[in-house]
Amino acid sequence: MTTCRVCGVRSVRPLCPTHQAALAARKSARRGGWKRKPGADAAKARDGGCVMRGRGSPCRGPLQVDHIVPLSAGGADTLANKQTLCAEHHRLKDVLPA
Ligand SMILES: [Zn+2]
Ligand SMILES: [Zn+2]
Repeated sequence: MTTCRVCGVRSVRPLCPTHQAALAARKSARRGGWKRKPGADAAKARDGGCVMRGRGSPCRGPLQVDHIVPLSAGGADTLANKQTLCAEHHRLKDVLPA
């Protein structure tokens, strides 16, 4: 027997079941938060597919979310600065006229 290091209640582990569960929940929330790209799903839902479909060459490959103004050029990481492109048009977007 030891005591919970958060609340001090007697427990078989350094954390009581309550605080053990709280810690696990916080860990998994953080893991999910780091992997998710906020706004990517929203951009795909708003655009309903590749925004350059029908231009130049047929759509091909998985849909990707592109920054209209690249982050490296000072673009914002917001939905307004995102567009959905297929892999093919993502590759071509710099060579096709806007
Ligand atoms: Zn506790
Ligand atoms: Zn496309």
